[in-house]
Amino acid sequence: MTLKEIEALTLRMLQNLNLFKLPINVLKFAELIGVKVKMNDFGDDVSGFLVTKNNQNLIGINPSESKQRQRFTIAHELGHFMLHAQNRNKDLMFISKVHFRDNNSTTGENQKEIEANAFAAALLMPKPILQLELDNLPNNISEEEAITILAKRFQVSSIAMTYRIERLGLFN
Ligand SMILES: [Zn+2]
Repeated sequence: MTLKEIEALTLRMLQNLNLFKLPINVLKFAELIGVKVKMNDFGDDVSGFLVTKNNQNLIGINPSESKQRQRFTIAHELGHFMLHAQNRNKDLMFISKVHFRDNNSTTGENQKEIEANAFAAALLMPKPILQLELDNLPNNISEEEAITILAKRFQVSSIAMTYRIERLGLFN
């Protein structure tokens, strides 16, 4: 799926599920599409996972990470669910390691990881809302201050917000 299609898909789903408001409720999103989310202590180098087995869909989240990271991990795994797990005849498992998502270098990431990250960013930081929030910021603040305010409003990490804004080319 192209990045454009992923943007359109997340927007459509947020609107259809009546979740198109800040901060995006990823837990509700998961619940409404039939995915369970559980805290799961599985060691420090894993952020989360998605398992789909016998029509049961489960996302496990590392409770030792920040709330913002947990939200991003849930959104990332939801991306795998929506984009890569739709063939229900097959049991699937995706595991997300800590740190690779916030890495600017996408070289070495496979296509599915890139798509899941794009889905997560689009889901948590929908472009139309982000554009509006950016426009409504006072224009005498620095980019850094803007990022801090927006990250808080969208409940994402500053790194994720910076990356999203750069990707969309919203800072000139
Ligand atoms: Zn992944």
